[in-house]
Amino acid sequence: MNVSSIPSFGLRGKKAIVTGGSKGIGLTIATGLAHYGAEVMVTGRNEEALKDAVRNLKEHGYDVKWKRADVTSKEEVEELFSYADEVFGQLDILINNAGMNIRKPLVEVEEEDWDQVLNTNLKGIFLVGQQAAKRMINQQSGRIINISSILGQVGNPLQTSYAASKGGINQLTKVWAAELADHHITVNAIAPAYIKTPMTEGFLQDPERVEQILSRTLLKRMGEVEEVIGPAIFFASDASSYVTGQVLYVDGGWTAN
Ligand code: NDP
Repeated sequence: MNVSSIPSFGLRGKKAIVTGGSKGIGLTIATGLAHYGAEVMVTGRNEEALKDAVRNLKEHGYDVKWKRADVTSKEEVEELFSYADEVFGQLDILINNAGMNIRKPLVEVEEEDWDQVLNTNLKGIFLVGQQAAKRMINQQSGRIINISSILGQVGNPLQTSYAASKGGINQLTKVWAAELADHHITVNAIAPAYIKTPMTEGFLQDPERVEQILSRTLLKRMGEVEEVIGPAIFFASDASSYVTGQVLYVDGGWTAN
């Protein structure tokens, strides 16, 4: 072993885009990336929420950029990446995170529900991943980190469109890893279980639901949003240089059960 080859978890000099970075898991990962030294740009649809998030981060000493973009719009995604080209000049890390959910029994899912979830969670991941890959291929380096969910793996009720989108993300992760490996780009996914964020706080107010979740979770507690930072830093940093095409479950042991 060569001591001088011990890899770094540090991200100084790296440039990162985090989609859906105005709140929840995206904002938390953005904060973690900035904490480890990366220059970060957060995106989302709500400009005020982005400005608030960035202002708050500034108060904690992190200078994060923002740009409004709807990931379902090819045009807005292209504008986002052009802006990042101008501001950063390179792209090292993509956190492909923007997502949403509409929970309904199969027989009640409207076509519009399906379209909205699949457009955001799967088409959005594709549009954003494609723009990032173009830049990373030119650079011959990069890290793409897709945010999936345990629901891409386990079959839970009320998740018809969401589970389809997250299963799709797991598969895209493997395909992109295979395609981009020759360009020194790694592609991995993080698949959290239920974590309290603006997306899930209503759903998690039902004590029976929480009890069901805990009964499946080896660690017998809910995950905290900050617990997604470690896996994101690992995949974004040199420490994961020989890891690609993987889905890492951040689920307290749910999927091991
Ligand atoms: P939140 O609802 O808290 O945040 C979602 C983020 O995505 C917001 O910044 C939102 O901003 C943005 N967003 C949503 N739609 C779009 C769009 N069309 N274009 C651009 N941005 C968009 O969700 P979470 O933080 O909980 O979830 C983040 C990711 O983590 C999602 O992919 C989710 O599926 C995944 N996940 C979450 C889990 C959980 O328990 N919380 C568990 C497993 C996975 P805006 O509304 O302004 O556009």
